[in-house]
Formats: sequence, structure tokens, C-alpha cells
Amino acid sequence: NLSNKLDKAIKTLKGQGRITDINVASTVKEIRRALIDADVNYKVAKEVTDRIKDKAIGRDVLIAVSPGQLLVKIVSEELTELMGGTKSDMTIKGDPAVILISGLQGSGKTTFTGKLANLLKKQGKQVMLAACDIYRPAAINQLKVLGEQVGVEVYAEPENKNALQIAQNAIKHAKQSGKSIVIVDTAGRLAVDEEMMNEISALKESLKPSETLFVVDAMTGQDAVNTAKAFNERLNFDGVVLTKLDGDTRGGAAISIRAVVDKPLKFVSTGEKMDAIDVFHPDRMAQRILGMGDVVSLVERAQETFDQQEAERINKKIRKNQFDFNDFLSQLDQIKKMGNIKDLLGMIPGMGKAMKGVDVDENSFKPIEAIIQSMTPDERANPDIMTGSRRQRIAKGSGTSIQQVNNLMKQFDDMRKMMKTMNKMGGMKALGNMKG
Ligand code: GDP
Ligand code: MG
Repeated sequence: NLSNKLDKAIKTLKGQGRITDINVASTVKEIRRALIDADVNYKVAKEVTDRIKDKAIGRDVLIAVSPGQLLVKIVSEELTELMGGTKSDMTIKGDPAVILISGLQGSGKTTFTGKLANLLKKQGKQVMLAACDIYRPAAINQLKVLGEQVGVEVYAEPENKNALQIAQNAIKHAKQSGKSIVIVDTAGRLAVDEEMMNEISALKESLKPSETLFVVDAMTGQDAVNTAKAFNERLNFDGVVLTKLDGDTRGGAAISIRAVVDKPLKFVSTGEKMDAIDVFHPDRMAQRILGMGDVVSLVERAQETFDQQEAERINKKIRKNQFDFNDFLSQLDQIKKMGNIKDLLGMIPGMGKAMKGVDVDENSFKPIEAIIQSMTPDERANPDIMTGSRRQRIAKGSGTSIQQVNNLMKQFDDMRKMMKTMNKMGGMKALGNMKG
């Protein structure tokens, strides 16, 4: 990844007290190549590396940081600046406020529409969705399903073949039913074409959305930039949504798009689940492009869903060596609430690569849950009473094999042993002291 390449690129700088003309030239070339590899467009990559060179030359390197670290910091600052510096909010204005969603087919518009509704609803907004993709019958259903999932009303007229009319009726309906925001999901084509552009422009002209978002698949690399350009020329949109960042993170598209259309990125989509949405933070994206992982987003999301009290309760039980299967089940629930496990793991530095091809999802928990659910309350609270005949009964009841039950018992036992050892050493504090 880019970070590795940068490491290599800055090797020549190691051990030197000052970044100079000579030692920076070849490094900057490498950085430029690495950026291009991460999908940053050539012109943009050249501009940014020229600026990095100017900034880096002559900077004194402190004892605490290596020239390499300093250079990474400069690159990271520069990329952050390139993506707008700070986060950019949507404009929500009007009665109701209208948010128009545009983009090619398959870019993730409908999925994002559901996610955005979910996010706004969590913020206490009264949201309604308008199903204006009239060309594919399945599209209306898809939006309805998502609306139901997040508990937001979806306005649709399956028989009507006029997207503009549907949107207008939706807005009328929203007004009557006291909704403050209408998000309009629209149709897309496989490639930019006149008919689609006419339709989406007409929607924008007539609905006067306070926010028009352009949704683009991050995995399409350089094509993403061309599509963004074409849409912006016709639509003059207000912000960009980068989707599918959970895949092979070609975050470089974020930099190129911003540089080419000069419109802020506002959201990123990181999975198919309704909570896999993040507000776009230029500094975090810069770090992600540099391969450091989006740790801040991860922590925020974990905090949002993790039930603090429950965590404390379980910690207390761990400290008293009383951790049982009820606690185990509750922990599994917490993990699941945090969203797609693969998405979460992918945000931890180094994990994305390690998890490639590994199939971890909530389904991997199903047999475990089934086994625990087949235990009697007594067995769950007292894991030590698990005899062979009890295990056999549980395997039968949960539709698993006796091996699966034994495996779980073994894993659970190992877990408890580790907790006990940790407690003996003085808990988590001792673990911290062991480092370094
Ligand atoms: P639309 O045609 O623009 O409305 O796109 P959809 O919302 O129907 O999405 C197309 C496909 O991409 C669907 O299979 C979605 O589940 C998937 N998708 C959308 N957003 C994401 C994302 O952020 N990550 C991943 N992995 N898949 C996504
Ligand atoms: Mg759609």
C-alpha cells in the first residue's frame, strides 16, 4: 500500500538531521508514483508533490521524529488540505428541505438514500423518502425495504412514469404529514447519457433541493473523476458521496474528484448495512490513503453503539471471575450492533489486508448463538456444570454437532482462563505495563 511505498521512499532520509534538496528529490518522485497508484490523478499528484517538496526542504527535523515521519506528516497535511481541510456540512433548508441524490446506476444511490435517512432520523429529523427511479420496477421495492429497515416512510407511485410528478407529490405529502426532509432517490444509467442528464436536471430545476449530492463508486478509480466532471457540468451539485470504500480502498479518487470539480466530499459509504455511513473527514481520509486506517471513525462508531453500562457490568464480572455465557451472548450482540464485522475490522490498520478472503460476518456467530440459546439458564450462568450428556442435549437442540459444542466450551474455557490470569496480574493495567 501507499504507506509501505512511502516507507521505502523515505528510507533515504533516515538518519539525517535536515531535509535537503538532494535527499528529498528522489523521495518526492516516489511519493508521486505512490499517489498515482492510489488513483490520484497525475496532474493533481504532481501539484501536491511539488508543494510537499517546497514545504519539506529546509524544515528542521526534531529529535523526536524521524525525517520520514515528518515527511509523512507533511504529506498527510497536504492531502487533507487538498480534500477541503475540514468537513463540509449539508445545507438543510426549506419546508420540507429536499435532498436530491444523483449518480450512475450501481453507484450506491439507493443504499445511500436509506443510510442518510437512517442518520438524519437518529439526529431527530422527520424524514421521508421519494422513490423516483421509475425505470426499474425492483428499484421502488428496494427503497421500500430499506425504508422499512430504518423506520422511514417511503413515498412511491408504482404506476406513475413521471419522476418529476412523483417527486412533487412526495413533497406535497411530506408537507401534509409534517416531515421536514425529503430525500429523492433517482434513476441512473450505466454511462452518462442525455436522457438521464435531462431528467436529473429537470428534477433539480423544479424541486430546488437545498442539497444535491452526487454518489460515486470509489472502486471505479479514474472513471469516477470523469463521471463527477460530467455530472457537475450539468447539475452543479453541492457535494460528493464516495461509496464502497470498504472494498479495495482506492481512496485516491477522493483527492482527484475534489481537485477536478472543486466540490466538497460530504459522506463515505463503507458497506451494505444501513449504518455503514460516515461523515467525510479530510484528515481521516488522508490518513486512510496513507494506509494508517480510519481508526478515529472506528472508535466513534464503536462509542455510538456500545452500551457503556453493559460494558462496565461485564467488566465487573470479568474482574470477579464470574464471566458466563449470558455475558458472552451480550458481547456478541454488542459486536453485531456495531455493524458489519468485516467493515469494522477493515478500519483497523493492517486488518483490511489480513481479512481479505476471510469470511467473517454475523453468520459466523449463528451456531454459537444457537448453542448458547439451547442452554438452560442454569447452564448459562454456571458454565462449569456442563457434562457430556448436557452437551449432547445442547448439540441436538441447537442443530449443531457435538464437536461444535465442545469447541465452543473449549474456547470459552480458554477465555476465562485468560481473564483469570489477567486478574491475577492486576487486570488491564498490568497488561499495559507489560508493553515495551
Ligand atoms: P444505485 O443503482 O445507484 O441505486 O445503487 P444501489 O444502492 O442499488 O447499490 C448497488 C449495489 O452496490 C448494491 O448491491 C449495494 O448493496 C451495493 N453497495 C452500495 N453501497 C455500498 C457500499 O458502500 N459498500 C459495498 N460493499 N456495497 C455497496
Ligand atoms: Mg437505485
